[in-house]
Amino acid sequence: MSRITRLSNLFLRTLREDPADAELPGHKLLVRAGYIRRAAPGVYTWLPLGLKVLRKVEAIVREEMDAIGGQELSFPALLPKEPYDATNRWTEYGPNLFRLQDRKGVDMLLGPTHEEMFTLAVKDMFSSYKELPLTLYQIQTKYRDEARPRAGLLRGREFIMKDSYSFDVDDAGLEAAYQRHREAYIRIFDRLGFDYVVVYADSGAMGGSASEEFLAVSPIGEDTFVRCEESGYAANVEAVVVPQAAPIDASGVPAAHVEDTPDSPTIATLVDQANALHPRSDGRAWTAADTLKNVLIMLTHPDGSTEPLAIGLPGDREVDAKRLEAQVAPAEWRPFEDKDFAAYPMLAKGYIGPKVLGENNADSGGSGIRYLLDPSVAEGSAWVTGADEHGKHVFDLVHGRDFTADGTIQAGEIREGDPSPDGAGTLTLARGIEMGHIFQLGRKYAEALDLKVLDENGKLVTVTMGSYGVGVSRAVAAVAEATHDEIGLCWPRNLAPYDVHVVATGKDEAVFAHAESLSAELVQAGLEVVYDDRPKVSPGVKFKDAELLGVPTIVVVGKGLADGVLEIKDRRTGERREVPVADAVNEVLADVRFEAHAAGANTQHSGD
Ligand code: ATP
Ligand code: MG
Repeated sequence: MSRITRLSNLFLRTLREDPADAELPGHKLLVRAGYIRRAAPGVYTWLPLGLKVLRKVEAIVREEMDAIGGQELSFPALLPKEPYDATNRWTEYGPNLFRLQDRKGVDMLLGPTHEEMFTLAVKDMFSSYKELPLTLYQIQTKYRDEARPRAGLLRGREFIMKDSYSFDVDDAGLEAAYQRHREAYIRIFDRLGFDYVVVYADSGAMGGSASEEFLAVSPIGEDTFVRCEESGYAANVEAVVVPQAAPIDASGVPAAHVEDTPDSPTIATLVDQANALHPRSDGRAWTAADTLKNVLIMLTHPDGSTEPLAIGLPGDREVDAKRLEAQVAPAEWRPFEDKDFAAYPMLAKGYIGPKVLGENNADSGGSGIRYLLDPSVAEGSAWVTGADEHGKHVFDLVHGRDFTADGTIQAGEIREGDPSPDGAGTLTLARGIEMGHIFQLGRKYAEALDLKVLDENGKLVTVTMGSYGVGVSRAVAAVAEATHDEIGLCWPRNLAPYDVHVVATGKDEAVFAHAESLSAELVQAGLEVVYDDRPKVSPGVKFKDAELLGVPTIVVVGKGLADGVLEIKDRRTGERREVPVADAVNEVLADVRFEAHAAGANTQHSGD
């Protein structure tokens, strides 16, 4: 049985001013309403109210993980280096990893995710196929030295994740474990009340194959995803695979010719100059889509070494920073800088063409820079592109005939209206917050750490694994962002820190006495109650605080008590009604239970 929480002694201080370092409205409100407090950039303290919400999210995740047979355990956050060396992640994680040394100078790390530790634990303890399948999970603190810790809990450097791992002897087992997780995640995100999509994801640095993300649809999301109405295809833009354009017959294209295009270092100026000085013979005007743009970037590998890379794509498209990031991971990238150009004098900035690009042309005066093309550049297609000389471009340069590249790269921007990769219609774009990620890892980690079990024939086989994450602390922030209004937080019933916020107003002792006994009755009835019993605080301040805190039901005991009534307010709809004092408890209970029932009916909770 819980007790009444009294605002007179709750460890809470609400703020009227927005915190200076917060960008997003939900984040500002979480700080102002006294749910969290910043300890360092990307590192937050959970105050009592925030911790209650966090625990409710955890409880939902835990119930659904238990329902699919997951067994909870908890690994340390402080970890030894060796396992992460064995999988090369000590190096691959690069600057994102928090590294430290103990007093003996031994390298250690703060875990960013725990594939290695789980793999080793299973290896230590299990040895037979009879002990599999197995699903283990934890809800635990992770550390990543994120480049852009922003938006508070949404991208912390310390954050709470549910991570689970499945262990199976064969691919069919892995597929089944993956599907069970997928269904559990659907139940989790239904219960958290998100508007979410399940999208194909990039498997990125983790290796492995099948992978999907659960994105909360939100304009503030850092991820962009595409959807195709016709086919139902949905993918993170990072994972969209643009099909290779079919070859085109180039037999009618004249030989490539270099032309003067003075002052045309950008695509826009090039198009203008081409139209002014070298109009097309067919009467159509040159457009950016006729030009081939060559973008130079510098990669930094996890070991600190650098490598230049050139990307060729139609001039009407940009390179998409996130798609590129996903393609080059675990390396990081930045645009070419003046000092990089200085190191490659054959690159005429603004006029770079395929002639000086490519891994194998260093001997013939080229740069030797690896050159990758956007898949939309068809073999046989003719382009206007740089002639590697200031003020000159080459026309009718045909891919396959006049130049080749070292391969293709999926880094061009994806645009609204682009054809769906499954050929079934066009794409629309929207933004989302990654809330969960499920992943068929396969045997990568088991191989690196030698996790084998005996199969039915007594033969040693390598175990196949899945890895599955939910951003638990991120979920608190994402719900706050999705549900708040101008005046405060606005929790859904099942995540609110309390069921009811009782406010006593005025100075009348009878009011306080009644509010106290009402709170006690509500607690008796099984509700979680916060009671604003602060004497000498004005009703205006109390109402503002109640609105800021965002408990779904607010009961005001005040002047009306003399007439036998009090007021019940719904924080989310703003609806208020006067009820006879004698009915108050039942009225509140009816509100709470009605919603609890509705929520239960919505989620086909397999534990029920
Ligand atoms: P992101 O692309 O947002 O950085 P990720 O791909 O690195 O996420 P995973 O490694 O798959 O994320 O981690 C599993 C889940 O943990 C994510 O789906 C997300 O909900 C959560 N998460 C990841 N990084 C953070 C972070 N810095 N702060 C809070 N939650 C995070
Ligand atoms: Mg990340």
